[in-house]
Amino acid sequence: MNELEQLTALCAKLGAEAGPAATMAAQLQKRASQFAAERGVTREEAMRYLLEVMVKGRQGEPWQEAGASRPPPSMREKLLSRFNATFGRSPTVITRAPGRIEFIGNHTDYNGGPVLGAAIDRGVWVGVAPRDDGDRRFGSEQYSQIVVVAASELEKQNGAADWVNYPLGVLAALPEFALRAPEGLDFMVISDLPTGAGLSSSAALELASALAFLEMTNQHPDRETVVKIGRHAENHFVGVPCGILDQGVSGFGKTDHLVHVDGRGPTFSTVPMPAGANLWIFNTHTKHALVDGLYAARHRECMEAAAGLGVSALVDASEETLAANESKLSPIAARRARHIIGEIARVRATVEALQAGDLPRVGGLLTASHRSSQSLFENSTRELDFLVDQLAATSGVYGARVTGGGFGGAVMAFTSPEFGETQAAVVSKSYHEKYGAAPDVLRTQLGDGAEVI
Ligand code: ADP
Ligand code: MG
Repeated sequence: MNELEQLTALCAKLGAEAGPAATMAAQLQKRASQFAAERGVTREEAMRYLLEVMVKGRQGEPWQEAGASRPPPSMREKLLSRFNATFGRSPTVITRAPGRIEFIGNHTDYNGGPVLGAAIDRGVWVGVAPRDDGDRRFGSEQYSQIVVVAASELEKQNGAADWVNYPLGVLAALPEFALRAPEGLDFMVISDLPTGAGLSSSAALELASALAFLEMTNQHPDRETVVKIGRHAENHFVGVPCGILDQGVSGFGKTDHLVHVDGRGPTFSTVPMPAGANLWIFNTHTKHALVDGLYAARHRECMEAAAGLGVSALVDASEETLAANESKLSPIAARRARHIIGEIARVRATVEALQAGDLPRVGGLLTASHRSSQSLFENSTRELDFLVDQLAATSGVYGARVTGGGFGGAVMAFTSPEFGETQAAVVSKSYHEKYGAAPDVLRTQLGDGAEVI
């Protein structure tokens, strides 16, 4: 069922006759995007609100929107009120940047290969205003303390203030790209993205900060530069050796599109997501104690495999090269190479299947990606495997896989509208029964990339 059919069914369920239900659904669909843009709320919030208005209309109450309860405060309104309460004035610039999901392409990026990512409809919102006393004041709704750093200082922060290293890292990165950093400023961030959940809140914070600093100094470099500034901040100031996926997807996201990142450029493009597909995240909150060391080991094993196959990166090796040269590799390096070479082929096949609108085929590739992580790359865990097994056996699920680096974290499910809260609750319950804690379940939609509001 596509969205229009779903809405028609919903309107019918709420009591409208068949003809009016279809008209109402069409109106709802048309009005929701406009309403969301006007009010700064998500499309989903707009839909919920407009539906309420329509139901009241049918019950004989006036159809005017004023008749319905106020929609929940938008992120923009929340940010404005937080900024005002903290700094006693309004921000001059507001920006937002989304979190992201790795759709398919597990550990392919540092092997020169492609990844498909999805920017989601949740993210980080930043407000800034200049100060003329040379102080930079940073506030976050997640931390009670305001951190004050003189504009003349760019020291790395520790302890409770260490989250400020993300915006500070952006400020430190700007001159590296021949751009000017603003001097004194007030800065406030709010977010509806869980942190540390593999949805890349850090990249969202970097991109929202970068756009805010650039807008307030009236500098407008291209999108690729903004993405690189975010990554530079994370690699060099925060000190996390991440690839370009997180910032690239947050920067290049587009509603109803996936972002294709080619690790070789890197170059960025978008691929339309056919209608009728939904994404769900099941976050297990499990994390292998040695995860950093395990990532480093996988990196090393891939480089060893590439060297053994005589290529500079595994993207340049084929199934045939591997088959002909397998004896030159250690069994571990051979397994890692088989995963990466197969995964790169799966990313390419996924793009083709998306273009053909073949959702079951996309799902099959996603689950195959997980099986390869499980048996060849060995970066899955029994918890993640359990979720994938449960999901794959649930009707309405096209496919499921670990999303992100692995060794714990989250599983993504790619579903038809047939899979809803009820089915998600069944999977969640069986996981709870087995492992004693329920995963966090998040239904997401594909949203737009970082922007100045
Ligand atoms: P992920 O990027 O997967 O969410 P990371 O560990 O890379 O996890 O980044 C999370 C860190 O980013 C947090 O610990 C915090 O320092 C910073 N961060 C993210 N969102 C916010 C926020 N709204 N306010 C302050 N800091 C934030
Ligand atoms: Mg991160």
